[in-house]
Amino acid sequence: MGLEEYSAKRRFSNTPEPPPTDATSKRPASSFCVQRHDATRLHYDFRLEMDGVLKSWAIPKGPVLDPALKHFAAQVEDHPIEYGGFEGNIPEGNYGAGSVMLWDRGAYELVGNASGAEQLGKGDLKFRLSGEKLKGEFALVRMKGRKGNEWLLIKKRDAFAVPGWDVEAHAYSVLSGRSQEEIARNLPARKSKRQAAGATDRVWDSSKPANRGAATRKGATAEARKGVGAEAPAAPRKKKRQPI
Ligand code: MN
Repeated sequence: MGLEEYSAKRRFSNTPEPPPTDATSKRPASSFCVQRHDATRLHYDFRLEMDGVLKSWAIPKGPVLDPALKHFAAQVEDHPIEYGGFEGNIPEGNYGAGSVMLWDRGAYELVGNASGAEQLGKGDLKFRLSGEKLKGEFALVRMKGRKGNEWLLIKKRDAFAVPGWDVEAHAYSVLSGRSQEEIARNLPARKSKRQAAGATDRVWDSSKPANRGAATRKGATAEARKGVGAEAPAAPRKKKRQPI
């Protein structure tokens, strides 16, 4: 899979997403990233650098550290390496319109001697992540007897496994510290990195002051909270088709 499908779906004059370039080979190998994408349906895009592109899967329930959960992952078109740094808003009328959060990033290494291409071909890809949120061994396993793009993401039982781990309790950007709403509203990056929780997301769910207190305890800055309670959440947007 090259980048033709990626390019065909997008008009780069209309979206801030990066166009493919030939600069990809200059990057250090084996990065990964996860983007939290609030398109027609909220999902996470899991991307592994391999052979000069980002192999990509859309995961509705997100990646988790709980080894008891096997989350469905739809393989989608390869993305350019530069996409791994992307965070922002894809405008209305464009493919995947909505806000994109850089949710996690880091390095990964394959487990075993087979190349990434060989493991992908077999439908059994094993790798070790060193991200800010995701760490340890994982497997992506293609579901048998399906269309071919349907996989399961599974956390291996190792020292980094955390039973009960909740992906939505970590809904902040590793790039800017922002919540999804802050990205959607084009608010500036937070000055200090958050250690915990999609606190601002949760403020939107309720007008109770108690909740805003909870957000404060979880580390939201006063600056970022300013005005949050006064404004209603954005109305649902009409969006075009999305990758999953
Ligand atoms: Mn997506």
